[in-house]
Amino acid sequence: MRNIKDIGFLNHLLGKGTAHVEALSITEKKFTKHLEKYHSKCYCLCPENYEYVRFTFGTKLSKKEYYEFLKEKYLLFKKMGCDLQLHVHLVRYPQTLSNNEKEKLILESYNFFKKELSITPKEIVFGWYISDDFSEGIAKKLGLKIIKRHFHIYDFWLKD
Ligand SMILES: [Zn+2]
Repeated sequence: MRNIKDIGFLNHLLGKGTAHVEALSITEKKFTKHLEKYHSKCYCLCPENYEYVRFTFGTKLSKKEYYEFLKEKYLLFKKMGCDLQLHVHLVRYPQTLSNNEKEKLILESYNFFKKELSITPKEIVFGWYISDDFSEGIAKKLGLKIIKRHFHIYDFWLKD
């Protein structure tokens, strides 16, 4: 059965207080305006997910530019008073990804928050809510609560 929390219009209606931030190099202006109004809690992709972003949404930024861009925007959102937490996309079928790669994606994202944003994240939402025992173990070791299905919007719903 389809989960009620996956139904699009309900998320549009009830999810404005929480956002998954994935395509910021496209949605930057509209999403910043959205935050000014709603001060949503943000589950944020980090530079380590650059390849996912490039192939899913596209971006004109190089990996290095994307890193600096996210750092600048997330620091702005932090300053605006938004609660920033982790969003990490592994792959649709985690068994196809090595444990090293899973660990790297989660750990590098966590370290980006610590080092560049001076934020110790407390929560993680896995992309598509897909994770496995190994990746959940890494998250728990870092003290991260794994957040399951919830109402939210996507930043890319706001693009021009
Ligand atoms: Zn996502």
